[in-house]
Amino acid sequence: MRRSIQQITVCTVAAICVSCSKPGQDRQIVDDAAAALGGAQRLLDMKTIVIEGEGTNGNLGQDMTPEATGQVFELFGYRRSVDVNSARVRIEQTRTPNFVYFQGNQPQHQVFGVDGEVGYGIAPDGAATRTADAVAKDRLTDFYHYPLTAVRAALVEGAALSHPRTASGQRIVDVVSARKVPFTLAIDDRTSLPTRVVSMTDNTNLGDVAVETTFADYRDVNGLKMPFRITTRTDKYVTTDVRVAKQFVDGVVGDLSAPSKVRTATPIVGPAAAVVTVEEVAPGVWFLAGQSHHSVVVEFADHLTLIEAPQNDVRALAVIAKARELRPGKPLTEVVNTHHHFDHSGGLRAAVSEGLTIYTRKANVAFYQSALTKPHTLGADRLTRNRKPLRIEAVDEERTLQDDAMTMTLYHIAGSAHADTLLMAYLPKQRILVEADVFSPQSAVQPYAANLIENIKQHGLAVDKILPIHGTITTYAELLKTQAAQK
Ligand SMILES: [Zn+2]
Repeated sequence: MRRSIQQITVCTVAAICVSCSKPGQDRQIVDDAAAALGGAQRLLDMKTIVIEGEGTNGNLGQDMTPEATGQVFELFGYRRSVDVNSARVRIEQTRTPNFVYFQGNQPQHQVFGVDGEVGYGIAPDGAATRTADAVAKDRLTDFYHYPLTAVRAALVEGAALSHPRTASGQRIVDVVSARKVPFTLAIDDRTSLPTRVVSMTDNTNLGDVAVETTFADYRDVNGLKMPFRITTRTDKYVTTDVRVAKQFVDGVVGDLSAPSKVRTATPIVGPAAAVVTVEEVAPGVWFLAGQSHHSVVVEFADHLTLIEAPQNDVRALAVIAKARELRPGKPLTEVVNTHHHFDHSGGLRAAVSEGLTIYTRKANVAFYQSALTKPHTLGADRLTRNRKPLRIEAVDEERTLQDDAMTMTLYHIAGSAHADTLLMAYLPKQRILVEADVFSPQSAVQPYAANLIENIKQHGLAVDKILPIHGTITTYAELLKTQAAQK
């Protein structure tokens, strides 16, 4: 009986495959692309690639609103060096923000790369650090987001091709490289030149997302066709757009292996374990710190409110658990989100999974309705495993949450160059202000402090203490002093 079921299954699968694609159609797409680029043997013989130019990096998850794309880093001296056989890529670039940046607007020189499964960055002082494995994986996948490496990977032994199809004037095939990296290759139906490479990745805030690199402006370079415009998007957001000035194969790239200190460093397989410290700032007000992103718990008559569920599941769930320990008999029912930036909203899915209602600026609502209900199959998070209804309360210019025990007003921070979705929380009885990113006491530059002071004055707030989401507890006097020193 069992055998006959297996036989039926095998026959059915075979029948489906025969009906959907002729044998070899997938291989034909790859062969045609190889021929168009300069020949399969030429691609297989290729050792190194260098791409130089300039362009832009987007500011994914950190722009003025969730939909905005106006903030970019201008790239100069972009150089991407690739060692093809060993899947090593190193990028050197200098980037300058075209917007008011929290680290200041001076040009930043960056060096970062991937060596197979090991990702790394090299600071201006030469110090090398290993990246999280998830970042390394995305960088290794990006190695294939280029016509010559993508088609070469599809040609070599060990690559698996499947699902050949046509759409919108393109022939498309799914590839799993010999290194087990999956991606989709699309080629132009007419020229057979690759038009784009698409891969899927997990994003804490956006869920399962497509990363797509498109290729345009092909030119002849020593018998090869190379694209002189290379544009990468995560979801709909442009993350890198390079206008190539010069590129060539088999030039000298030097040693692109990861620094030995990085290769022997312990792999970073997930977010750091959460450390949550508690400081009671006033009766019914606690500052939950311990790492880079803090939260505040506020006690009302019959419930607790959390301000900020940052970063990711690990941090947000630890903060929520700690908040519940403070008043075990009182439910934690809601969370105030200071703004949409991904590091400040990355724990909102965890908050939803814990049944919390989200208070956020109304400009974020549509984005959260989408982002907080998206599938996360590639990195199944807490909300994926523990679905709860999404409840969002929109805040326009101001909104007061009040009962017999506590009064807290949420104000939109108007006109800030940091984001247009910022809320600050004010506790009038305690003369406490909670804010994120617009005054972080230990920051070397304070480009948003003057606007914060304007907003505080505009609303006539009497502030003594400031609880910042980054940095240590400070005072309004310190904010004034810092601002004066900036002038
Ligand atoms: Zn921010």
